[in-house]
Amino acid sequence: MPTRRSEHGDAEPFAGTIGRVNPVHAFPAFPIQAVVDLEAIRANTASLIRRAGGAQFMAMVKARGYAHGAIPCARAAIEAGATWVGTAQLVDALEVRAGIGDARILTWLYAPGAPFARAIEQEIDLGVSALWALEDIAAAARECGRPARIHLKIDTGMGRAGIPPVQWEEMVDAALAMDEAIDVVGCWSHFACADDPDNPSVQAQKDVFAWAVAAGEARGARFEVRHIANSAALLTDAGANWDMVRPGLAMYGLSPIPDIAGPADLGLRPAMRLESVLSLIKDVSAGQGVSYGLTYRTESDTTLGVVPAGYADGVPRHASNAAPIQVGSRRLRIAGRVCMDQFVVDLGPGAVDRAGDRVILFGPGDDGEPTAEDWARASGTIAYEVLSRIPQHIPRVYVGD
Ligand SMILES: *Cc1c(COP(=O)(O)O)cnc(C)c1O
Repeated sequence: MPTRRSEHGDAEPFAGTIGRVNPVHAFPAFPIQAVVDLEAIRANTASLIRRAGGAQFMAMVKARGYAHGAIPCARAAIEAGATWVGTAQLVDALEVRAGIGDARILTWLYAPGAPFARAIEQEIDLGVSALWALEDIAAAARECGRPARIHLKIDTGMGRAGIPPVQWEEMVDAALAMDEAIDVVGCWSHFACADDPDNPSVQAQKDVFAWAVAAGEARGARFEVRHIANSAALLTDAGANWDMVRPGLAMYGLSPIPDIAGPADLGLRPAMRLESVLSLIKDVSAGQGVSYGLTYRTESDTTLGVVPAGYADGVPRHASNAAPIQVGSRRLRIAGRVCMDQFVVDLGPGAVDRAGDRVILFGPGDDGEPTAEDWARASGTIAYEVLSRIPQHIPRVYVGD
């Protein structure tokens, strides 16, 4: 076996570094896991409900619950007082329905040919932004022999989904005229700039929303729920809570207004900790290039660690040479490019870390570990994207149930 001199001058096997193993944190299934604290989801939901001034709470679990797991998070939110659950994709609503009992569900993303009849049979409310959708949903309702509950969406200025104001009254009339097939229960919209409370568009959208509600009611609609507030609108107290609020990111404990306030300032706690392990440790000389493109070079003789998590696992490639991680109690940084399945960390000269030692990519931050917001900043994106791109194959471990 080749030997080399340790810093203390003793001969030791070369394998002294590459062979160092810590079996304690061995992961059972896959060497990355997302630990989701359902108690944090319940506490965040309860805290947001207190801010909502009597409005109902829709737990937003789109994108698999911002990748925390839609059904466990929906259940936790319902335990804390949520009465509605929201998914973007209709197919996700069908899946969530099977896991949450009879809480109300709203879904709004689908394309022509979507399984509207199944949604109607499973008591799922449908957001409607287009005439084709109204007609297809009415046809499905007639087929099912029961009315579809719909929420008409007004485009108050975001220019994405929603009925343009010039067509609003015509759409309300069309929906009300289908009274056997269509039950208009909601009027809703979405803010473009609620994270920038001084942006004049916020007030402009609120004004258009109030107009749309009044115009709809004047034409005979009886909206049971009128709703426009996302996390940022609720937390900045935009005065837009109406009958229901629809927070997503804040329920998972991240701030939608990170330049204004962090989670702790808002009474929130991040629910997810993303962790992996060191899969390989090795000593290298000063000047060693690291990972594709050799964009990192060691400054001194040092120890490198390999972490078996890459962009296929949701680690942003833009985090190369930038994102912070925690190893033991040390805050370190990704060294070199993030690869498809792994990245490297420079553990520093004299490191005593072992293969199998835990690496925290992000967590709530209370043990000094980085947060998803830190990752967002390091990789030029937002916490929403850091979270929601964690793929399905990463095992979720639920605590606080
Ligand atoms: C995602 C989404 C929300 C929640 O947004 P957050 O900023 O995460 O609170 C609310 N409403 C709609 C229509 C959405 O798409």
